Amino acid sequence: MKLRTVAFLTLAAGALGVGLTSALQREYKSGIVFPEPKVVTPGEKPGDAPSDANILFDGKDLSKFTNGDKWEIKDGYASTKATDITTKESFGDMQLHLEFATPEKVDPKQTGQARGNSGVYIMGKYEVQILDSFDNKTYFDGQCASLYKQQPPMVNVCRKPGEWQTYDILFEAPKFAEDGKVLKPAICTVFHNGVCVQNHFELKGGTYYDQAAKYVKHAEKLPFRLQNHGNPVKFRNIWVRDIAMLVGKEPEKKD
Ligand code: MG
Repeated sequence: MKLRTVAFLTLAAGALGVGLTSALQREYKSGIVFPEPKVVTPGEKPGDAPSDANILFDGKDLSKFTNGDKWEIKDGYASTKATDITTKESFGDMQLHLEFATPEKVDPKQTGQARGNSGVYIMGKYEVQILDSFDNKTYFDGQCASLYKQQPPMVNVCRKPGEWQTYDILFEAPKFAEDGKVLKPAICTVFHNGVCVQNHFELKGGTYYDQAAKYVKHAEKLPFRLQNHGNPVKFRNIWVRDIAMLVGKEPEKKD
């Protein structure tokens, strides 16, 4: 570019109130036509359900869970009792928020896995462990916020027994071929008390106590289960959102 032209463009850009760089730049456009993101009103405080959440437990009743009537409900929370409870609805890719508290009274005779044990069995198969891991050692891939027997949390951010804690879980369901081959593993991200403890972990299969992880082909959407492990763990404020990346329409290719 000749010096005179540059000088002219600089002056013109200055007169228009834009920088020289932007005067010379052409905006890049991918040409992909995206649907407009839906408007969602966030909750008032962190952890509050946004406007598009499916509220599964708001402190009143567990009617959205099979066997929900078996658990005790008082003062806006539910306590594990007698049996696991399972959502009546099925979920695939999702964001799940829940709050829990392990028992305030600690029996010193109960240690390791016997203290404040519960769990979130996503799709009934993939457990995000709930345990009192505050000053209570166990195997690391079985402590609170582990993906059971597959991956310990990156850090231990457990609050004291009896204190309310949060899980914010992002889960992508696995995809299977007709013959059961895994096309895409399940992927899980977990925030424990707001701290990232699992980052996009590719699960090796279902989580088991007595065998190695393995995949068994299943439906695209399935209910999740909250575990009763004999310790009265409290739950409150449980909500879920379906999550799906917006897919745009690629521009037609011209020859
Ligand atoms: Mg458990």
